[in-house]
Amino acid sequence: MNNPDQNSEPPLQKDLSLEEAVLETASTEEKPFSRTEIPNSDFKIVSPDTQKFRETYFPDATDKQWNSWRWQIQKSYTSIKKLSEIIDISSIEDIDFLSKTRKLPLRITPYYASLLSGKSIKSALSRTVIPDMRELLISPGEESDPLHEEAMCPVNNLIHRYPDRVLMVSTGFCATYCRYCTRSHMVLKDKKHFGIKAWEKSIEYIRNNPAVRDVVVSGGDPLTLPETHIEFLLSSLRAIPHIEIIRIGTKVPMVLPQRITNGLVKMLKKYHPLFMSIHCTHPDEITPEVVEAVNRLADAGIVMGSQTVLLQGVNDDVVTIKELMHRLLKIRIRPYYLYQCDPIPGSAHFRTPISKGLEIIKGLRGFTSGYAIPHYVIDTPGGGGKIPLLPEYYQGREGDYILMKNYEGNLFKYYDPIR
Ligand code: SF4
Repeated sequence: MNNPDQNSEPPLQKDLSLEEAVLETASTEEKPFSRTEIPNSDFKIVSPDTQKFRETYFPDATDKQWNSWRWQIQKSYTSIKKLSEIIDISSIEDIDFLSKTRKLPLRITPYYASLLSGKSIKSALSRTVIPDMRELLISPGEESDPLHEEAMCPVNNLIHRYPDRVLMVSTGFCATYCRYCTRSHMVLKDKKHFGIKAWEKSIEYIRNNPAVRDVVVSGGDPLTLPETHIEFLLSSLRAIPHIEIIRIGTKVPMVLPQRITNGLVKMLKKYHPLFMSIHCTHPDEITPEVVEAVNRLADAGIVMGSQTVLLQGVNDDVVTIKELMHRLLKIRIRPYYLYQCDPIPGSAHFRTPISKGLEIIKGLRGFTSGYAIPHYVIDTPGGGGKIPLLPEYYQGREGDYILMKNYEGNLFKYYDPIR
Protein backbone atom coordinates (compact mmCIF):
# COMPACT_ATOMS: atom_id res chain seq x y z
CA MET A 1 0.00 0.00 0.00
CA ASN A 2 1.22 3.46 -0.77
CA ASN A 3 2.19 5.67 2.10
CA PRO A 4 -0.53 8.36 2.14
CA ASP A 5 1.97 10.82 3.56
CA GLN A 6 4.20 10.35 0.57
CA ASN A 7 1.34 10.64 -1.89
CA SER A 8 1.11 14.30 -1.07
CA GLU A 9 4.78 14.91 -1.70
CA PRO A 10 6.30 16.38 -4.82
CA PRO A 11 7.86 13.77 -7.10
CA LEU A 12 11.53 13.16 -6.52
CA GLN A 13 12.43 13.48 -10.18
CA LYS A 14 11.23 17.04 -10.14
CA ASP A 15 14.10 19.41 -9.65
CA LEU A 16 12.77 21.61 -6.90
CA SER A 17 13.18 25.29 -6.45
CA LEU A 18 13.62 26.39 -2.87
CA GLU A 19 9.93 27.10 -2.38
CA GLU A 20 8.89 23.86 -3.96
CA ALA A 21 11.33 21.97 -1.83
CA VAL A 22 9.42 23.24 1.14
CA LEU A 23 6.81 20.61 0.66
CA GLU A 24 5.08 22.43 -2.12
CA THR A 25 3.42 24.24 0.71
CA ALA A 26 3.29 27.95 0.80
CA SER A 27 4.97 30.44 3.02
CA THR A 28 1.72 32.37 3.28
CA GLU A 29 -1.92 31.55 3.76
CA GLU A 30 -2.74 33.02 0.39
CA LYS A 31 -0.95 30.22 -1.39
CA PRO A 32 -2.44 26.93 -0.27
CA PHE A 33 -0.97 23.45 -0.65
CA SER A 34 -0.61 22.47 -4.23
CA ARG A 35 -1.96 19.07 -3.17
CA THR A 36 -5.12 19.95 -1.39
CA GLU A 37 -5.67 16.95 0.85
CA ILE A 38 -3.93 17.09 4.21
CA PRO A 39 -2.94 13.52 5.04
CA ASN A 40 -3.85 11.97 8.35
CA SER A 41 -1.10 12.28 10.92
CA ASP A 42 -0.15 9.63 13.45
CA PHE A 43 0.95 12.42 15.80
CA LYS A 44 -1.81 12.92 18.36
CA ILE A 45 -0.32 14.67 21.38
CA VAL A 46 -1.53 18.18 22.21
CA SER A 47 -0.52 19.52 25.63
CA PRO A 48 -3.14 21.43 27.68
CA ASP A 49 -1.59 24.90 27.23
CA THR A 50 -1.20 24.41 23.51
CA GLN A 51 -4.77 23.13 23.30
CA LYS A 52 -5.98 26.35 24.95
CA PHE A 53 -4.03 28.40 22.45
CA ARG A 54 -5.44 26.37 19.59
CA GLU A 55 -9.02 26.85 20.80
CA THR A 56 -8.48 30.59 21.08
CA TYR A 57 -6.62 31.34 17.88
CA PHE A 58 -7.43 28.43 15.57
CA PRO A 59 -10.94 27.49 16.72
CA ASP A 60 -11.79 25.97 13.34
CA ALA A 61 -8.68 23.80 13.09
CA THR A 62 -9.47 20.11 13.16
CA ASP A 63 -7.27 17.60 15.00
CA LYS A 64 -6.11 16.39 11.64
CA GLN A 65 -5.01 19.87 10.65
CA TRP A 66 -3.35 20.81 13.93
CA ASN A 67 -1.37 17.57 13.99
CA SER A 68 -0.29 17.92 10.39
CA TRP A 69 3.20 19.32 10.09
CA ARG A 70 2.34 20.66 6.65
CA TRP A 71 -0.63 22.55 8.08
CA GLN A 72 1.66 23.89 10.82
CA ILE A 73 4.05 25.23 8.21
CA GLN A 74 1.28 26.65 6.09
CA LYS A 75 -0.30 28.47 9.04
CA SER A 76 2.96 29.79 10.45
CA TYR A 77 3.28 33.36 11.64
CA THR A 78 5.29 35.15 9.00
CA SER A 79 4.40 38.78 9.64
CA ILE A 80 4.68 41.04 12.65
CA LYS A 81 1.09 42.10 12.09
CA LYS A 82 -0.14 38.54 12.40
CA LEU A 83 2.06 37.95 15.41
CA SER A 84 0.44 40.92 17.15
CA GLU A 85 -2.77 38.85 17.36
CA ILE A 86 -1.20 36.53 19.90
CA ILE A 87 1.48 38.53 21.65
CA ASP A 88 1.70 42.14 22.79
CA ILE A 89 4.35 43.66 20.55
CA SER A 90 3.43 47.29 21.24
CA SER A 91 6.75 47.78 23.01
CA ILE A 92 8.69 47.16 19.78
CA GLU A 93 9.64 50.62 18.60
CA ASP A 94 8.97 51.39 14.99
CA ILE A 95 7.30 48.13 14.05
CA ASP A 96 6.66 49.26 10.48
CA PHE A 97 10.28 50.06 9.88
CA LEU A 98 11.33 46.74 11.34
CA SER A 99 8.79 44.85 9.20
CA LYS A 100 10.26 46.35 6.07
CA THR A 101 13.92 46.07 6.89
CA ARG A 102 14.29 42.90 8.85
CA LYS A 103 17.03 40.88 7.30
CA LEU A 104 16.20 37.46 8.63
CA PRO A 105 12.73 36.24 7.76
CA LEU A 106 10.13 35.81 10.45
CA ARG A 107 8.52 32.40 10.76
CA ILE A 108 7.00 30.73 13.80
CA THR A 109 4.84 27.62 13.70
CA PRO A 110 1.45 27.81 15.46
CA TYR A 111 2.70 25.08 17.82
CA TYR A 112 5.78 27.11 18.83
CA ALA A 113 3.66 30.29 18.96
CA SER A 114 1.55 28.56 21.60
CA LEU A 115 4.64 28.53 23.84
CA LEU A 116 5.02 32.31 23.47
CA SER A 117 1.41 33.36 23.70
CA GLY A 118 0.38 35.30 26.80
CA LYS A 119 4.01 35.95 27.72
CA SER A 120 6.05 39.12 27.39
CA ILE A 121 8.12 39.59 24.24
CA LYS A 122 11.02 39.62 26.68
CA SER A 123 10.35 36.03 27.74
CA ALA A 124 13.14 33.61 26.91
CA LEU A 125 11.60 31.84 23.92
CA SER A 126 10.08 35.02 22.48
CA ARG A 127 13.47 36.70 22.38
CA THR A 128 14.85 33.91 20.22
CA VAL A 129 12.27 34.18 17.42
CA ILE A 130 10.66 37.65 17.50
CA PRO A 131 12.50 40.38 15.53
CA ASP A 132 14.17 43.15 17.51
CA MET A 133 15.34 46.60 16.40
CA ARG A 134 18.80 45.76 17.71
CA GLU A 135 19.21 43.35 14.80
CA LEU A 136 19.80 46.46 12.69
CA LEU A 137 22.86 47.53 14.70
CA ILE A 138 26.12 46.17 13.37
CA SER A 139 28.77 45.86 16.07
CA PRO A 140 32.56 45.44 15.78
CA GLY A 141 33.60 41.94 14.78
CA GLU A 142 30.27 41.06 13.18
CA GLU A 143 30.01 39.83 9.61
CA SER A 144 27.43 38.00 7.57
CA ASP A 145 29.46 34.80 7.20
CA PRO A 146 31.67 34.89 10.31
CA LEU A 147 32.80 31.28 9.96
CA HIS A 148 33.77 31.88 6.31
CA GLU A 149 31.71 28.89 5.30
CA GLU A 150 31.08 30.10 1.77
CA ALA A 151 34.83 30.15 1.14
CA MET A 152 34.97 26.50 2.16
CA CYS A 153 32.39 25.28 -0.34
CA PRO A 154 34.04 23.20 -3.08
CA VAL A 155 30.57 22.95 -4.64
CA ASN A 156 27.51 25.05 -3.87
CA ASN A 157 26.12 24.47 -0.37
CA LEU A 158 28.66 21.86 0.72
CA ILE A 159 31.04 23.03 3.46
CA HIS A 160 34.30 21.10 3.70
CA ARG A 161 36.14 22.56 6.66
CA TYR A 162 37.62 19.52 8.42
CA PRO A 163 39.51 16.77 6.59
CA ASP A 164 37.17 13.85 7.30
CA ARG A 165 33.75 15.44 7.40
CA VAL A 166 31.51 17.74 5.40
CA LEU A 167 28.30 19.65 6.00
CA MET A 168 25.55 19.76 3.37
CA VAL A 169 23.27 22.78 3.41
CA SER A 170 20.33 20.81 2.07
CA THR A 171 17.73 23.56 2.13
CA GLY A 172 17.50 27.24 3.04
CA PHE A 173 14.18 26.78 4.80
CA CYS A 174 13.47 26.38 8.52
CA ALA A 175 10.15 25.76 10.25
CA THR A 176 10.95 28.63 12.63
CA TYR A 177 13.78 31.13 12.24
CA CYS A 178 16.10 31.90 15.14
CA ARG A 179 17.13 35.54 15.34
CA TYR A 180 20.77 34.62 16.03
CA CYS A 181 21.16 32.09 13.21
CA THR A 182 24.77 31.59 12.18
CA ARG A 183 23.66 30.60 8.74
CA SER A 184 21.32 33.56 8.29
CA HIS A 185 23.36 34.51 5.23
CA MET A 186 22.22 31.28 3.59
CA VAL A 187 18.66 30.77 4.80
CA LEU A 188 15.58 31.61 2.77
CA LYS A 189 16.46 35.05 1.45
CA ASP A 190 19.43 33.50 -0.27
CA LYS A 191 17.98 32.35 -3.57
CA LYS A 192 20.62 29.77 -4.25
CA HIS A 193 19.26 26.57 -5.59
CA PHE A 194 19.01 23.75 -3.10
CA GLY A 195 17.22 21.16 -5.24
CA ILE A 196 18.18 17.72 -6.48
CA LYS A 197 20.80 19.02 -8.93
CA ALA A 198 22.69 20.80 -6.16
CA TRP A 199 22.49 17.74 -3.93
CA GLU A 200 23.78 15.53 -6.72
CA LYS A 201 26.83 17.74 -7.10
CA SER A 202 27.47 17.51 -3.36
CA ILE A 203 26.99 13.75 -3.37
CA GLU A 204 29.37 13.39 -6.28
CA TYR A 205 31.98 15.47 -4.45
CA ILE A 206 31.63 13.26 -1.37
CA ARG A 207 31.79 10.10 -3.50
CA ASN A 208 35.06 11.33 -5.01
CA ASN A 209 36.63 12.14 -1.64
CA PRO A 210 37.37 8.92 0.24
CA ALA A 211 38.76 10.87 3.21
CA VAL A 212 35.23 12.00 4.07
CA ARG A 213 33.71 9.56 6.56
CA ASP A 214 31.10 11.71 8.28
CA VAL A 215 28.40 13.83 6.63
CA VAL A 216 26.24 16.37 8.44
CA VAL A 217 23.00 17.02 6.59
CA SER A 218 22.01 20.46 7.76
CA GLY A 219 20.39 23.62 6.44
CA GLY A 220 18.19 25.44 7.00
CA ASP A 221 16.39 22.46 8.40
CA PRO A 222 16.48 19.20 6.45
CA LEU A 223 13.49 17.78 8.32
CA THR A 224 11.29 20.37 6.59
CA LEU A 225 11.92 18.55 3.33
CA PRO A 226 9.50 16.01 1.92
CA GLU A 227 10.19 12.45 3.03
CA THR A 228 11.06 11.27 -0.46
CA HIS A 229 13.71 13.97 -0.65
CA ILE A 230 15.21 13.22 2.73
CA GLU A 231 15.34 9.56 1.73
CA PHE A 232 16.99 10.44 -1.57
CA LEU A 233 19.75 12.21 0.36
CA LEU A 234 20.21 9.52 2.99
CA SER A 235 20.15 6.59 0.58
CA SER A 236 22.58 8.32 -1.77
CA LEU A 237 25.00 8.95 1.09
CA ARG A 238 24.58 5.48 2.55
CA ALA A 239 25.48 3.99 -0.85
CA ILE A 240 28.95 5.57 -0.59
CA PRO A 241 31.21 2.92 0.99
CA HIS A 242 33.50 5.34 2.87
CA ILE A 243 30.65 7.17 4.63
CA GLU A 244 30.62 5.81 8.16
CA ILE A 245 28.10 8.06 9.87
CA ILE A 246 25.40 10.48 8.82
CA ARG A 247 24.23 13.27 11.09
CA ILE A 248 21.12 15.36 10.70
CA GLY A 249 21.21 18.86 12.17
CA THR A 250 17.71 20.04 13.04
CA LYS A 251 15.50 22.15 15.28
CA VAL A 252 12.32 20.55 13.99
CA PRO A 253 11.68 18.28 17.03
CA MET A 254 11.57 21.46 19.17
CA VAL A 255 9.56 23.76 16.90
CA LEU A 256 7.51 21.32 14.83
CA PRO A 257 7.34 18.01 16.74
CA GLN A 258 4.38 16.96 14.57
CA ARG A 259 6.94 16.36 11.81
CA ILE A 260 8.27 13.32 13.64
CA THR A 261 5.68 10.93 12.26
CA ASN A 262 6.06 7.18 12.55
CA GLY A 263 6.45 7.12 8.77
CA LEU A 264 9.42 9.48 8.92
CA VAL A 265 11.06 7.53 11.73
CA LYS A 266 10.57 4.21 9.94
CA MET A 267 12.33 5.63 6.92
CA LEU A 268 15.17 7.22 8.93
CA LYS A 269 16.04 4.00 10.77
CA LYS A 270 16.95 2.32 7.47
CA TYR A 271 20.05 4.51 7.30
CA HIS A 272 21.89 3.73 10.52
CA PRO A 273 24.28 4.66 11.98
CA LEU A 274 22.29 7.87 12.02
CA PHE A 275 22.86 10.66 14.50
CA MET A 276 20.78 13.75 15.13
CA SER A 277 22.03 17.06 16.51
CA ILE A 278 19.03 18.80 17.95
CA HIS A 279 19.06 22.55 18.41
CA CYS A 280 17.41 23.43 21.72
CA THR A 281 17.52 26.60 23.71
CA HIS A 282 15.54 26.58 26.91
CA PRO A 283 13.78 24.13 29.28
CA ASP A 284 10.40 25.61 28.25
CA GLU A 285 10.85 23.91 24.90
CA ILE A 286 10.56 20.45 26.42
CA THR A 287 6.80 19.94 26.17
CA PRO A 288 4.76 16.71 25.99
CA GLU A 289 4.79 17.06 22.20
CA VAL A 290 8.57 17.24 22.17
CA VAL A 291 8.85 14.29 24.54
CA GLU A 292 6.69 12.22 22.16
CA ALA A 293 8.70 13.24 19.09
CA VAL A 294 12.06 12.58 20.72
CA ASN A 295 10.91 9.24 22.17
CA ARG A 296 10.05 8.09 18.68
CA LEU A 297 13.52 9.00 17.44
CA ALA A 298 15.27 7.40 20.41
CA ASP A 299 13.20 4.22 20.11
CA ALA A 300 14.32 4.01 16.49
CA GLY A 301 17.94 3.91 17.67
CA ILE A 302 18.83 7.40 16.50
CA VAL A 303 21.57 8.78 18.71
CA MET A 304 20.73 12.34 19.66
CA GLY A 305 22.95 15.14 20.90
CA SER A 306 21.98 18.70 21.75
CA GLN A 307 23.29 21.96 20.38
CA THR A 308 22.50 25.06 22.40
CA VAL A 309 23.57 28.62 21.72
CA LEU A 310 24.37 30.62 24.84
CA LEU A 311 22.09 33.66 24.65
CA GLN A 312 21.95 36.70 26.87
CA GLY A 313 18.57 37.06 28.56
CA VAL A 314 17.51 33.62 27.38
CA ASN A 315 19.63 30.91 28.95
CA ASP A 316 22.74 32.62 30.31
CA ASP A 317 22.70 31.29 33.83
CA VAL A 318 23.66 28.04 35.52
CA VAL A 319 20.14 27.23 36.72
CA THR A 320 18.58 27.45 33.25
CA ILE A 321 21.31 25.54 31.46
CA LYS A 322 21.42 22.86 34.15
CA GLU A 323 17.64 22.46 33.98
CA LEU A 324 17.77 22.24 30.19
CA MET A 325 20.55 19.64 30.22
CA HIS A 326 18.72 17.55 32.83
CA ARG A 327 15.50 17.61 30.84
CA LEU A 328 17.37 16.66 27.68
CA LEU A 329 19.04 13.70 29.35
CA LYS A 330 15.68 12.49 30.63
CA ILE A 331 14.43 12.31 27.05
CA ARG A 332 17.63 10.61 25.85
CA ILE A 333 19.29 13.59 24.20
CA ARG A 334 22.92 13.79 25.28
CA PRO A 335 24.08 17.38 25.91
CA TYR A 336 26.72 18.00 23.28
CA TYR A 337 27.61 21.61 22.49
CA LEU A 338 27.05 24.94 24.21
CA TYR A 339 28.03 27.52 21.60
CA GLN A 340 29.23 31.03 22.12
CA CYS A 341 26.84 33.08 19.95
CA ASP A 342 28.48 33.68 16.56
CA PRO A 343 29.05 37.31 15.52
CA ILE A 344 26.49 37.58 12.74
CA PRO A 345 25.31 41.15 12.01
CA GLY A 346 22.95 42.50 14.66
CA SER A 347 23.57 39.80 17.24
CA ALA A 348 25.46 41.75 19.95
CA HIS A 349 22.40 41.86 22.20
CA PHE A 350 22.49 38.06 22.33
CA ARG A 351 26.20 37.66 22.99
CA THR A 352 27.48 37.06 26.51
CA PRO A 353 31.04 37.63 27.65
CA ILE A 354 33.14 34.46 27.47
CA SER A 355 33.42 34.60 31.27
CA LYS A 356 29.68 33.84 31.44
CA GLY A 357 30.06 30.61 29.48
CA LEU A 358 32.99 29.55 31.66
CA GLU A 359 31.00 30.38 34.79
CA ILE A 360 28.18 28.13 33.58
CA ILE A 361 30.50 25.21 32.84
CA LYS A 362 32.12 25.70 36.24
CA GLY A 363 28.65 25.63 37.79
CA LEU A 364 27.94 22.28 36.17
CA ARG A 365 31.18 20.33 36.55
CA GLY A 366 31.08 18.43 39.83
CA PHE A 367 27.55 19.60 40.53
CA THR A 368 25.79 17.31 38.10
CA SER A 369 26.41 14.13 36.08
CA GLY A 370 29.23 14.34 33.58
CA TYR A 371 26.72 13.34 30.90
CA ALA A 372 24.83 16.57 31.59
CA ILE A 373 27.79 18.79 30.74
CA PRO A 374 28.07 20.08 27.17
CA HIS A 375 31.30 21.24 25.56
CA TYR A 376 31.44 25.01 25.62
CA VAL A 377 32.93 26.06 22.28
CA ILE A 378 33.64 29.06 20.13
CA ASP A 379 33.29 28.43 16.44
CA THR A 380 36.18 30.63 15.52
CA PRO A 381 35.57 33.56 13.18
CA GLY A 382 37.55 33.13 9.99
CA GLY A 383 36.93 29.40 9.74
CA GLY A 384 39.28 28.02 12.37
CA GLY A 385 36.72 25.49 13.56
CA LYS A 386 35.38 24.84 17.04
CA ILE A 387 37.66 25.51 19.97
CA PRO A 388 36.60 24.18 23.39
CA LEU A 389 36.90 26.46 26.41
CA LEU A 390 37.31 25.18 29.95
CA PRO A 391 37.52 26.89 33.31
CA GLU A 392 41.03 26.90 34.80
CA TYR A 393 41.27 23.55 36.54
CA TYR A 394 44.95 23.13 35.68
CA GLN A 395 47.01 25.40 37.94
CA GLY A 396 50.54 24.68 36.76
CA ARG A 397 53.40 22.49 37.93
CA GLU A 398 55.41 22.13 41.12
CA GLY A 399 58.38 19.86 40.42
CA ASP A 400 57.12 16.35 39.75
CA TYR A 401 53.55 17.30 40.56
CA ILE A 402 50.90 19.11 38.62
CA LEU A 403 48.51 21.31 40.54
CA MET A 404 44.77 21.26 39.97
CA LYS A 405 41.72 22.84 41.48
CA ASN A 406 38.60 20.73 41.88
CA TYR A 407 35.00 21.87 41.45
CA GLU A 408 34.95 23.23 45.03
CA GLY A 409 38.07 25.29 44.43
CA ASN A 410 40.33 23.06 46.56
CA LEU A 411 43.90 22.54 45.39
CA PHE A 412 45.14 19.00 44.66
CA LYS A 413 48.47 17.59 43.49
CA TYR A 414 48.94 14.77 41.02
CA TYR A 415 52.31 12.97 40.71
CA ASP A 416 53.46 13.39 37.14
CA PRO A 417 57.27 13.18 37.07
CA ILE A 418 59.15 15.23 34.53
CA ARG A 419 60.70 12.74 32.08
S1 SF4 B 1 16.94 26.30 13.03
FE1 SF4 B 1 19.15 26.47 12.70
S2 SF4 B 1 19.41 27.04 10.54
FE2 SF4 B 1 17.25 27.45 11.12
S3 SF4 B 1 17.20 29.58 11.75
FE3 SF4 B 1 17.52 28.38 13.60
S4 SF4 B 1 19.76 28.33 13.82
FE4 SF4 B 1 19.32 28.93 11.70
